Amino acid sequence: MTAEQTDPTIDTLLARHPALGYDGQGHLMFDGVSLQELARHAGTPCWIISETVLQERATRFKEAFSHYRQSVRFHFAVKSQDHKACLSSLAQLDYGADVVSGGEMERALNAGIKAENIVFSGVGKTDDELKRAVALGIAQVNIESAEELFRLNDLALSLNRTVRVALRVNPDIDAGTHAKITTGKAENKFGIAHQHVAELYGKAQNELDGIDIVGLAVHLGSQIITETPYRTGYNKLASMVQDLRRRHLKVSVLDCGGGLGISYRNEKAPEPSMLAKVIAETLPDDVTLRLEPGRWISAPSGVLLSRIIEIKKGSRQFAIIDGGMNDLVRPAMYDAWHGILPVSKAINVRPIPYDVVGPICESSDVFARNRSLPPLEKGDLITILDAGAYGSVMSSTYNSRPFAAQIMVREGQWSIIQKRQTLDEILQRELLPSWAAG
Ligand SMILES: *Cc1c(COP(=O)(O)O)cnc(C)c1O
Repeated sequence: MTAEQTDPTIDTLLARHPALGYDGQGHLMFDGVSLQELARHAGTPCWIISETVLQERATRFKEAFSHYRQSVRFHFAVKSQDHKACLSSLAQLDYGADVVSGGEMERALNAGIKAENIVFSGVGKTDDELKRAVALGIAQVNIESAEELFRLNDLALSLNRTVRVALRVNPDIDAGTHAKITTGKAENKFGIAHQHVAELYGKAQNELDGIDIVGLAVHLGSQIITETPYRTGYNKLASMVQDLRRRHLKVSVLDCGGGLGISYRNEKAPEPSMLAKVIAETLPDDVTLRLEPGRWISAPSGVLLSRIIEIKKGSRQFAIIDGGMNDLVRPAMYDAWHGILPVSKAINVRPIPYDVVGPICESSDVFARNRSLPPLEKGDLITILDAGAYGSVMSSTYNSRPFAAQIMVREGQWSIIQKRQTLDEILQRELLPSWAAG
C-alpha cells in the first residue's frame, strides 16, 4: 500500500456498497435492516451478511461468462466464507465448492452442494481426507505434488475406485499481491513446478490405474487487481496444454482458480468480465473451465458491527471498539485497509482522525490509523466494511473472547445464523489432567 493512497469518503464507500445507506433518521441500513436494531438484538461485535449482496455478486460473476459456449463450472472458495447459510444460498445458484480441507468438504455437502460439484485443493491433504474424497466421487482432486499423486493412486486402488485429478501447476509468476496471499511463485509451497508437469501428467495417464487425469489447475494468489498476472499465468497454462497435447496426453478440464480482488480502499478493482475476457483470449475453448471465486463474491456481502468501548484522548485519539483482531484479523495479518462507517449519520460536523483499535493485548490489534471519522463517543456503533471474506472464518477465541454472533439479512428481514459463543462453551471443553482431578 503506497503512501499516496488517500482514503475514500463516506459517500464513495456508500456508492460502492449499494446495500448500505442512511435512512431518513440517519440510521445506517444494510439490505433494508437497521444496524442499530441488530446491535440491540444480537449484541456486538457481530457479523452481518447480506444474502441479497452475496447472491447478486455470485450471479454477476457467473454472467460474465455467459457468452461462453463451452461448459463453465463455478466453485465458490469455501475458505473465504464457510457458513452453511451462505453455501446453501450459493448452491441455489448452481455454485459448487472449492474446498481445502475435509472439514470444508463436509460443510459443503451439509449445505446441499453435491459431491460431483466439489473440487478439493490444498497442499496437505491427509489419507483420510483423500479417501473420503475418493469414496464420495467428487468432481476432482487438485494435486499439489508428485508424492501426493502417487499416494492418492494407492488410496484409490485400495478402495477399488478411480478418482478424477487435475495437476495444480505453479506457474512461477508474481501476482503483485500481499506476500502472505501470493501463491503462484516458485518459492511458495503450492503446486507442481511447471517443468515437471508433462512427465507427471504422462505417468498419471498411462501408468496409474487409480487416477483419471482430466487437466490442469492454477491459482495465482488472492486480491489480484490487475490483468497482467492472469494473462501471464493463463498464457503459461495454455502453452502447457499444447505441450501435453503434442505428447498425446488428454486435457479436458482447466481450473482457473480464484483470486479476483475488490476495492477495499481506492484500488481500481476489475470486474469479472476482465477475467472472462483474459480467459477467452488465452485458454483453449475445447475444455471445461472451472472457476473458484471467493473474496470477490463474499467480501462486500458482509460487515462487522462493533461498539465503541472508550475514546482515549491524548496525542492521538483512540477509538477502542469491542471487536478485536481475534474477530477480524485481516488488518493485523495483511495490513489490510477496511472502510469504516458510523452507524448514526453525523451532519455538519468536522471529521477527526482516529486510531480505531480493538481491546486485545497486542500492538497489532489496530483496524485503522489516522482515519477521518465524524466525532465518536463511547457507546456509538461503527461498522467495518468488506468483512464477508476471510473474516468470521479466521476468527479465534484469543484473549478468551467468544466467537461473535452472525446474522443474515435479506431485504428487510434478519435472522441469527450463528449464536454468540458463551464463555461456558469455551470453558466446558477444557479438562484438568487426570492426575489433578482427584
Ligand atoms: C483461496 C483459494 C481460492 C479463492 O481465492 P479468492 O482470492 O478468495 O478468490 C480459490 N482457489 C484456491 C485453490 C484457493 O486456495
